[in-house]
Amino acid sequence: MAKRITNRSEDYSQWYLDVIKEAQLAEHSPVRGCMVIRPTGYALWENMKGALDQMFKETGHENAYFPLFIPKSFLSKEAQHVEGFAKECAVITHSRLQSAEGGVEVDPESRLDEELIVRPTSETIIWDSYRNWIQSYRDLPILINQWANVVRWEMRTRLFLRTMEFLWQEGHTAHATEKEAVEEAEQMLEVYRTFAEEYMAMPVVTGLKTESERFAGAVDTYCIEALMQDGKALQAGTSHFLGQNFAKAFDVKFQDRNGEHRYVWATSWGVSTRLIGGLIMTHSDDNGLVLPPKLAPVQVVIVPIYRDDEQRETVLEYARPIQESLKEKGITVKLDNRDNYKPGWKFAEHEAKGIPVRIAVGPRDVENGNLELARRDTLEKSIIPAAGISEHVSELLETIQAELYGAAKKRMDENTREVDSYEEFKKEIENGGFIYAHWDGSAETELRIKEETKATIRLIPLNSDSAEGACMVTGKPSKQKVLFARSY
Ligand code: AMP
Repeated sequence: MAKRITNRSEDYSQWYLDVIKEAQLAEHSPVRGCMVIRPTGYALWENMKGALDQMFKETGHENAYFPLFIPKSFLSKEAQHVEGFAKECAVITHSRLQSAEGGVEVDPESRLDEELIVRPTSETIIWDSYRNWIQSYRDLPILINQWANVVRWEMRTRLFLRTMEFLWQEGHTAHATEKEAVEEAEQMLEVYRTFAEEYMAMPVVTGLKTESERFAGAVDTYCIEALMQDGKALQAGTSHFLGQNFAKAFDVKFQDRNGEHRYVWATSWGVSTRLIGGLIMTHSDDNGLVLPPKLAPVQVVIVPIYRDDEQRETVLEYARPIQESLKEKGITVKLDNRDNYKPGWKFAEHEAKGIPVRIAVGPRDVENGNLELARRDTLEKSIIPAAGISEHVSELLETIQAELYGAAKKRMDENTREVDSYEEFKKEIENGGFIYAHWDGSAETELRIKEETKATIRLIPLNSDSAEGACMVTGKPSKQKVLFARSY
């Protein structure tokens, strides 16, 4: 069979697209920058959603839904927010089409009195509601999340990693005190870190964004950053401490215990379908997708091998109780009994789709009470007894999950260095990876480094144990080393 996936070493970007195509996760749409998420990709998103949603609820949040459209005037209420998002907004100006020669055209009579923005994020429309919901300290905190789609008019797009329309969740919380809001933003960062590491098996580093990389309208942006196999960083999630910026813009005050009126403190936090891009680039190989068992829509596939109808019946009869015993263990298992595909073809398909474990059974296995087990991540195969298979597979899935994390962590650690001079930095950055170095804290130096090396400050570590030093570029004082990388 001809190899359909480009090798990573040959062309990494093409490899990424090939993996997505062969795993049937998504495809480009007729509209530039938008994607069609196919059932396999959507099942993966549903599993991510399910795990995250549970974590949000365990930390006291509820889901709600706010409109897709935002009145243009809302966006301009918070000065930094509008400045940050102005260039990425889809604006609705008309409400009707009319027939025209050869098709339809916008009916000029249908111009809207107030133009609408397709939400790029929902702070403004949500804080407009919060004004009505909050009067007293008793109304606080408000801990709300919404699952939605948003639109940002991105110029350079890439499937999952950066699309014009993407699916995400956005948490929006309101608090009586600054301390509580900061704790919330930090708590949600920790939720994201836990999800990335324990479910996606994707190690991340956490910290604060610099002023120039901060969310438009935030006082502080916390983030998780992951390192992809090609040595580039991916911002995988953000949690913002918004101070009182949106409360002031939307006049949201509450009466405290002493009867005084005070502005409310806010946070917002989000992760998107970008995580699927991160997942692909963390684990997959030249044969296709590799999925961590905890998120895989199908964890185990059983492929029967036979030559004729009689063998088919014998093998299927042998396979069905195996399937049942796995199901009983809570394992998601599929028996691939399609008669119109050869086993080799099925193997390749399951491999490309990243199904963590494959079981193959043929007539000889039936005779010997065995089965063949194959791991997608290491491609190792072994013949084992069918008795006790569910315990064995259940342990194996845990092992795979742990080893995927271990391998990704090892790679991240091996590709994380510290440098002291700018000369060294320029040389090292060519090899990709995370680089810790001293920076003087100025936006000018940050920009100069970006222009000269294409590297950006991914984050300022929290609770850093790095000593004070001198900026690698200007020699000015630096409180701690910060994390640089080239990024997606
Ligand atoms: P933000 O609201 O800018 O902090 O973004 C929230 C989350 O959405 C971040 O985790 C980003 O990684 C992700 N994100 C931002 N822009 C895009 C995009 N165009 N496509 C996919 N994900 C995005």
